[in-house]
Amino acid sequence: MKKRIYFAIIAIFIVSGMAMAQEDPFENLQTDLLKATVCCEVFPASQSIFIDSTLELSKTVVGKTVLLARGTLSDVKVLAGTGEALPYVVATGVIIIESLPAGTQTVSVSYMACFKGQATPTMFPVINEDFMQFDDSQPCYPVSFFMDWHDVKMAVTAPKGFEIAGPGIPLGKKVSRGKVTSYFRSEGPVCRGAGLFGGKYRIYSDLIEGITLEIFVRRNMDFPAWHSWADYMKKTLGFYRARYGFYPFSRLRIVQLPNFHDLNGRGGGQTFVMIGGDSSFTMGPSEHRSPNFVAHETFHQFFGALIFPNVLKGGINIIEGTTQYASLICAESFVPGTIEKMGRRFLAEVRKIPPDQDVEIMKATLENPSASTLAYDKFPLFLLELRKAVGDETMIRIERGCLEKYRFGKFLSLADFVQVIHAETKGNPTAASLCTDWLEKKGIPPITVFEESAPVNRDFPLRMVVSADRSNRECFEQTVEDYRNMIENLSITR
Ligand SMILES: [Zn+2]
Repeated sequence: MKKRIYFAIIAIFIVSGMAMAQEDPFENLQTDLLKATVCCEVFPASQSIFIDSTLELSKTVVGKTVLLARGTLSDVKVLAGTGEALPYVVATGVIIIESLPAGTQTVSVSYMACFKGQATPTMFPVINEDFMQFDDSQPCYPVSFFMDWHDVKMAVTAPKGFEIAGPGIPLGKKVSRGKVTSYFRSEGPVCRGAGLFGGKYRIYSDLIEGITLEIFVRRNMDFPAWHSWADYMKKTLGFYRARYGFYPFSRLRIVQLPNFHDLNGRGGGQTFVMIGGDSSFTMGPSEHRSPNFVAHETFHQFFGALIFPNVLKGGINIIEGTTQYASLICAESFVPGTIEKMGRRFLAEVRKIPPDQDVEIMKATLENPSASTLAYDKFPLFLLELRKAVGDETMIRIERGCLEKYRFGKFLSLADFVQVIHAETKGNPTAASLCTDWLEKKGIPPITVFEESAPVNRDFPLRMVVSADRSNRECFEQTVEDYRNMIENLSITR
């Protein structure tokens, strides 16, 4: 389920967005994090993790510094680079409550975090006997409240028998006293934290298009579809590389999430794609009811790991809508009929929006229960229509333009994206009116990319609307509420 990725991120963005709206009272909290060096030791049986991290900042921080961390924290130590202990409080993270001493550009933070009772297949960190997961959007190490792009080095110590999928490039392993330490460094900067996943896996690997593909499948499971996966990934990676002229990273890890439902996935973390369930792996990826499913999660290596949306300003359309669109045309290139089949499903979803919830895409906010449908279903239809009108070459320029302009940069809003469209389609009145009709008006403009007369095959589960999934909605609201309280209770030192 692609949607769940962004709940966590949304929470973070809502907070930073709120801060900006209030004449930027958090300006002084900006840390400009350059680098994080993190050592973790994981204890799957007790569902806990020990973190020892050093954060390198580009400037001395004035005022309070908020560092995100997860779980119930104990044994917290916060030290300046000089070794001086820094006063802190723990509230949804570690908050350093005084300005850092002049000249301080490194801070070390260590703690034990316990996740007991949180071993759920939701967005929270999962640890159990055989598997563990720290979502990249739920940092398992303290990173700045304001998410900076930064480099990460990570050493992860786990019991022998665990395979660790860490961020970026693996630098090797060391075995000592029944434990294995795996070393990683990010390949290019990461925003938010860096993902970490471990478990008793068997790794299938191949060199495809110069990219190391690794598929982590639970050890006790047969993976008869491996060859068809390798073939599918070869076509997928080849398509994206040809379209954009590059692939962002030297490797791609597809990790089986055992606690997730079949055909649910998450992407967006550097080099990670997580796919849920067992039967997702027993089928070949192009046999899935949705052949663009794996292509979708893989595409998040571009829109997700390289650029980051401003979710408060329509960015979810960019991150998920462009991904739905791109994965469709990718899958279409070797599973003909994908666009028509999936396009009809998207259209059927959009038609379910009750009239009182129908809003212009440009004006949709996350509070609107149809926000997901607008982003996941309506926005890709708009892009398909635009592609038909302006041609694929122009679309490639639009997509590449965004990737080049916003790569590792500022958060991309929907308005920014539309500006790129206008710049690349200058003088094309059809493009301009498509933008107006699809983005600034309610309702569904005429569909021309496929025949919509045939009835929609409803063998596919209904798309989850944000408000329809109570547990996720509650988690989301609780997270936002926690951050809100934290912000309100901070008094800012100027
Ligand atoms: Zn997605």
